[in-house]
Amino acid sequence: MRKPIIAGNWKMFKTVSEAVSFFSEVKGAAEVDGVESVICAPYTTLPALVEAAKGTSIAIGAQNLHFEDNGAFTGEISGVMLSDLGVKYVIVGHSERRAYFAETDEIVGKKVHAAFKHGLTPILCVGEKLEEREAGETKNVCKVQTEAAFQGLSAEQAAQVVIAYEPIWAIGTGKSSTSEDAEDVIAYIREVVKGLYDASVADAVRIQYGGSVKPNNVREYLSQSNIDGALVGGASLEPASYISLVEGA
Ligand code: PGA
Repeated sequence: MRKPIIAGNWKMFKTVSEAVSFFSEVKGAAEVDGVESVICAPYTTLPALVEAAKGTSIAIGAQNLHFEDNGAFTGEISGVMLSDLGVKYVIVGHSERRAYFAETDEIVGKKVHAAFKHGLTPILCVGEKLEEREAGETKNVCKVQTEAAFQGLSAEQAAQVVIAYEPIWAIGTGKSSTSEDAEDVIAYIREVVKGLYDASVADAVRIQYGGSVKPNNVREYLSQSNIDGALVGGASLEPASYISLVEGA
């Protein structure tokens, strides 16, 4: 009963004209009944994409937000600004933000709250580094990150969070987790949510896999019972590839 969700994470790629041209190619084709299709794009492209997405079933998301509504935070963008544009989703706590922009679990938690405050659905990223995996810490890392990000959320909010399990060593490397391994960790994350709330919240939360998902492996991940979609970087940049991902789901 959980609706599969394919989200493209464009990272720092595409100008406004490239974004609009991409959108005109995927419109229609990347709209498949029973699959939610989301494009998380750079801030500068969001107004044009939101406009282009009107009347389609494709939702537009941002890749980050600041947790304050406004203030002296040079260079930052807040949830107020994103919801004002008509953005629906926002990626929170992506491993690149945790690694290069010093986002701690505490900051990620504040951002999740800020997203809900402004009617945005957070796509919360969790996942382990290679060393952590090798040390057998994968599940514990995911538990700590999930618990920190869910802190203080009502059951109703918790049920709406989209979690993206992204093993860091699999991002942009072409080395993807096997679908069985991803299923094992994702089933565990669902148990963590159950422990924080109850079975109905855990059953409602959608959990994606991310990390070198491609049109040729997306179906394998989605065939696992706990995997509800994919967060896709590289393979979401080309229209044909993005369409195949949504169709594959
Ligand atoms: P990738 O990126 O699909 O290019 O591995 C995934 C992500 O960073 O969300």
